Amino acid sequence: MPRTVTEPERQTPVWKDSDVLVVGGGVAGIVAAVAAARSGARTVLIEQSGVLGNMAAGSVGLPILAFFSTSGKRLTGGIPEEIVTRMMALGGCAGHTMESGQKYSSGSITVFDPEVFSRVVHQLLNESGVDVYLHTWFAAPWMDGHTVKGVFVETKSGRLAISARVTVDCSGDGDVAFRAGAPTAKPGGDSGEIQPATLPFVIDGVDVLRFAEAVRTNPELYRVHQKIGIVDGARGPQVQYSSREISGLEPLMVPLHAADKLGFPQPFMILCRTMREGQFFVNMAKVVDVDVTDVDSYSRGEMLARMRVAPVMDFLRQYVPGFEHIRVVSTPHQLGIREGRLLLGEHILTIDEMAARQTYPDTVAMGGRYVDIHRVEEKVDFAKRKVPVAQTFPDGYFIPYRCLVPRQVDGLLVAGRCSSATRAAMGSVRVMGCVMALGQAAGVAAALSAKSGAAPRDVNMAAAQDTLRRLGGIVE
Ligand SMILES: Cc1cc2nc3c(=O)[nH]c(=O)nc-3n(C[C@H](O)[C@H](O)[C@H](O)COP(=O)(O)OP(=O)(O)OC[C@H]3O[C@@H](n4cnc5c(N)ncnc54)[C@H](O)[C@@H]3O)c2cc1C
Repeated sequence: MPRTVTEPERQTPVWKDSDVLVVGGGVAGIVAAVAAARSGARTVLIEQSGVLGNMAAGSVGLPILAFFSTSGKRLTGGIPEEIVTRMMALGGCAGHTMESGQKYSSGSITVFDPEVFSRVVHQLLNESGVDVYLHTWFAAPWMDGHTVKGVFVETKSGRLAISARVTVDCSGDGDVAFRAGAPTAKPGGDSGEIQPATLPFVIDGVDVLRFAEAVRTNPELYRVHQKIGIVDGARGPQVQYSSREISGLEPLMVPLHAADKLGFPQPFMILCRTMREGQFFVNMAKVVDVDVTDVDSYSRGEMLARMRVAPVMDFLRQYVPGFEHIRVVSTPHQLGIREGRLLLGEHILTIDEMAARQTYPDTVAMGGRYVDIHRVEEKVDFAKRKVPVAQTFPDGYFIPYRCLVPRQVDGLLVAGRCSSATRAAMGSVRVMGCVMALGQAAGVAAALSAKSGAAPRDVNMAAAQDTLRRLGGIVE
């Protein structure tokens, strides 16, 4: 039996009253809050860190994947598209680029400047009238029987309560759903595996011409999976790429990895060009067995990932032409988690349904990226390497509202990478284009529920879909 102590009973001040309370200010939470506020709800958004956007913001700003399917069908629209348009107007976004020339394509990739993203989403939340509280940690649900009536938060001002007609769990990890007693699957589900967590970081100082020349003259050694060429530009030779992403380098890395000389577990490079010449995201500081729902594991994982940045830099500097003088520009404010808890909601989305393009009367969003489940081995045996699931969805797939609705608990919706899908299905849904669409759907439905008094599970679907269409959302 673990040692326990009884805390004294206390009276907690009710700090705020809201129609819609969104827990978690990642991309899903931001869009959910704006959608709810624009639908007329008094909306509060709380975020435990000081940063909005998580993997999209902070000091990294990973590109948004899958606004469009590989066949060019639009999958996400409305408020997410408005964020892109506003960033473009400020010169802070390269727009949507269609990926081509590789076996598994994400459809579209949308690269932007994270500082411009921050500016735009702060403006958007402010203009929409969302009450945003940073450094505000969801501690426990405020329950009345099986209904969530709001949440208790921990802050520098102490423990406070926020009432809500509807709470939207956008914590990424289903924290509210789990604590409220809704059925959820633990990270990794029954597979016994959790996808690695990664600390993506940004580097600059890459001599891209030197790199392209090395790839051109020695393709077998570098084995880069995208096409990289050199063309004559107005101001001399210029590098031309088939994709934003640059991956490969196994011939260099596998022998070092086998000889325990790599210093990090992944003998495969994933880089992505940012908006700035010579600057790249490096998606390689991976850590396995990080369970975000276990504070010991989460904390150790975060520290280990930070310590893995240096060996990755050493490898790139020592072995990759053009990378000799690179520097770290920034690391994110928190570790990137691919897999947390998943809601076991009123509908659990499956790969078979997605592949069959199953339609639903309550479709509220679309997705379309291929299923991307990262390998979990600390020491990858490349000879026996297996790709876990490799399903693609050229025209996208549909997601019903019931994937946001918990079983057994009322007053609550769950949106983002903790919505209701099998582990494999979430391997596709989890990208930002799709989770923003889910956030938008949850925000609209939560506002309707708050206004009408109907429980979230009983929201008038035709009205919710109409509102989503008016916003620019894709529901068919
Ligand atoms: C390393 C990595 C690389 C990726 N690369 C890409 C990519 O290139 N493109 C792409 O589209 N997708 C990518 N993804 C996937 C994508 O970034 C995420 O799945 C997506 O951003 C999830 O968004 P979300 O809002 O659902 O959750 P999250 O981003 O996890 O946001 C949840 C928010 O809730 C907050 N929170 C959590 N608990 C609490 C609490 N108790 N109280 C208050 N706040 C809380 C968190 O601080 C966070 O801000 C990547 C993911 C990882 C990990």
